[in-house]
Amino acid sequence: MRLLEEKIISEGRVLSDQVLKVDSFLNHQIDPFLMKEIGKEFAARFANEGITKIVTIESSGIAPAVMAGLYLNVPVVFARKRKSLTLTDDLLTASVHSFTKKETNEISISKKYLDEADRVLIIDDFLANGQAALGLVEIVQQSGAMVLGIGIVIEKAFQQGSEKLKERGLRVESLARIASLANGQVQFINENVEELV
Ligand code: 5GP
Repeated sequence: MRLLEEKIISEGRVLSDQVLKVDSFLNHQIDPFLMKEIGKEFAARFANEGITKIVTIESSGIAPAVMAGLYLNVPVVFARKRKSLTLTDDLLTASVHSFTKKETNEISISKKYLDEADRVLIIDDFLANGQAALGLVEIVQQSGAMVLGIGIVIEKAFQQGSEKLKERGLRVESLARIASLANGQVQFINENVEELV
């Protein structure tokens, strides 16, 4: 997605060969116009899947997920990383090791908001080693619902997440795919050959 790639180039900061910081439009301050375009793009890519619900994880998945939910006209549920005192219902849970925070969280969603009739699109901000997405897949499958695909805003294709998800037969759609962050440079995988001209 051209607009997203341009934003990454102009505002992203490469913190290391492994980590990209995009606090100015996705992970801290949020660019609503960009989120709207991202939501529209996810909705277009999954338009024919009969999606009934979007599942994401707090906090940075929520903005793109809500915009996709708006365009697909379906509700959005986010997994919580910490148990809330008000989250007293029966819970679906999975254990997720965070790539950036180096800690393991028990993530959870109330059983009330997912059931076997649901056709789910999972959305997250980044895909690195796939732990967050796999945890969300596990939760959705516990509910008996079907995962129709995974929408990722920024995929770091040099890490293993996408392969792990595709090995399980899951469809992964990433709006920006980064081949490398070496030498402080963001290198994209450009699937559209015309864009290279
Ligand atoms: P995974 O679970 O795929 O290993 O990592 C994905 C999660 O880690 C995302 O939800 C995101 O919050 C965080 N993450 C992974 N890599 C990056 C990165 O390079 N930059 C930022 N800002 N977050 C990342």
